[in-house]
Amino acid sequence: MNKFIFVSGGVCSSLGKGVAASSLGALLECRGLNVRMVKCDPYINVDAGTMNPYQHGEVYVTDDGAETDLDLGNYARFTNSPLYRANSITTGQIYDSVLRKEREGRYLGRCVQVIPHITDEIKHRIIVALDQDTDVVIVEIGGTVGDIESIPFLEAARQLIHEYGKENALSVHLTLIPEVGEGELKTKPTQHSVKAMQEMGIQPDVLICRAPVMLDDAMRKKIALFTNVENGAVFVSYNIDTTIYAVPLVFYEQKMDQVVLKKLGVASRHSDLKPWCRVMEEFEARKGKVRIGVVGKYMELHDAYKSVYESLFHAGLESHVEVELVKVDSSRLEDPAAVDGILGSAVTGVDGILVPGGFGQRGINGMVNAARWARVNKVPYLGICLGMQIMVIEWGRNVLGFEDADSTEFNHDTKHPVVDLLEEQVDVKDYGGTMRLGKSESVAVEGSLIFAAYKEKHIWERHRHRYEFSNRYREEMSAAGLKLTAFTPDGGLVECTEWTNHPWGLGVQFHPEFKSKPTSASPLFRDFITAVRDRKAND
Ligand code: GLN
Repeated sequence: MNKFIFVSGGVCSSLGKGVAASSLGALLECRGLNVRMVKCDPYINVDAGTMNPYQHGEVYVTDDGAETDLDLGNYARFTNSPLYRANSITTGQIYDSVLRKEREGRYLGRCVQVIPHITDEIKHRIIVALDQDTDVVIVEIGGTVGDIESIPFLEAARQLIHEYGKENALSVHLTLIPEVGEGELKTKPTQHSVKAMQEMGIQPDVLICRAPVMLDDAMRKKIALFTNVENGAVFVSYNIDTTIYAVPLVFYEQKMDQVVLKKLGVASRHSDLKPWCRVMEEFEARKGKVRIGVVGKYMELHDAYKSVYESLFHAGLESHVEVELVKVDSSRLEDPAAVDGILGSAVTGVDGILVPGGFGQRGINGMVNAARWARVNKVPYLGICLGMQIMVIEWGRNVLGFEDADSTEFNHDTKHPVVDLLEEQVDVKDYGGTMRLGKSESVAVEGSLIFAAYKEKHIWERHRHRYEFSNRYREEMSAAGLKLTAFTPDGGLVECTEWTNHPWGLGVQFHPEFKSKPTSASPLFRDFITAVRDRKAND
């Protein structure tokens, strides 16, 4: 029988529910269980694809081309759960399908209501995400208990707990223990948060308290007493100054996996924490530091390029070097005279440049200037999606001498459209879910940097774009020395460009950051960071 764990949050948002749910998933996998992760997002958007990164952070893309919440990225980094469209449920999707069924007359004239029709649809979606190998499904419910939008999801969880029984379905609730005055820790918000859960008809079985420090036994017992949670089932996610990848070990030390398995009546198949111990060993063993300039336009918000930053960290683990992020707002680089002062400065300068994915015209010229600076100064460069297109525009402008070389995304009337709309996109009008999305194959040219990274000709990575390298410039670009080193299997689209006479400069049309893990870094990020490290060592 499938087992369910519902992870909810209280007191306030941004407590790290995604990391807590993922870390619990990681621990259960260490015990030999097949874990599936599902995210419920209470917003009414059908998916995250049309949301502004400033509001919602990065859009995470699955193999089957779903544009999802960034928490799926956490699941991918911590667990081996397959992640598809079905693993991301939004209120928008639920209403969309209920309304469709209503129009098709499938409710047989009944009045369609939040309960039972919306809640039944949520329950159905959760069950559909399971497969026959699933031992435990961890369902993270977005938002905070008390939010109006979360109510149908919590009600669906309550019903599933009731139907499957406490021995098969657990509620894990994450709260905050704030510090007030001089280091005084307060449990009251946690008590209120659990009360709010109880009002929804759910008694949490396990509490995870976010706190600045580990809480002593007495305080944990007090929390257990006032929240009706068993002694020994109150855990602490205390602040750590190493890395979020230490969280599975923090939970393990407190025996969270044992308590959860006991409550679910599941026997541990084995216990193998080695992968997480190795991550921490690699973390401690890093020597020296490299500074990577990430040149983009959402620099104030760490979540906007979440998977890219995590992938750089993973690459640092594998290349045994600390990666310091230097977030550069590309609009600061629009004036070519300012570029060297910023990127090449002795104090704030960078050892490598990464231009991540992005949309829209703002800041593009600053990115082109950063690419030129990296090319001319022989500084390693990794361009992802838009970052590859920037590499092509830069080559068009500065090497081929086409001053107005551009993508038609930014200048529709340019005489030199070196990046242009994908043919299949020409007649597309809807914004949601209509790009080239999801996993597809690229074939690498032997002897190239990309081939050296993957050690493989056939590369499967995920895409999310409307524009591409314009084929009519293939000959001119490569005659001038820009190497085209990966293509779609039919040869129709360019997937990778590389610089010659340069230590390491490469752009890919796909997004390698979505598949990078702390336990196995993306090959491209790893080789990029290794090149940066080696160039710095030889300086
Ligand atoms: N805006 C570009 C395109 O649509 C790049 C997209 C991206 O970087 N994900 O092709």
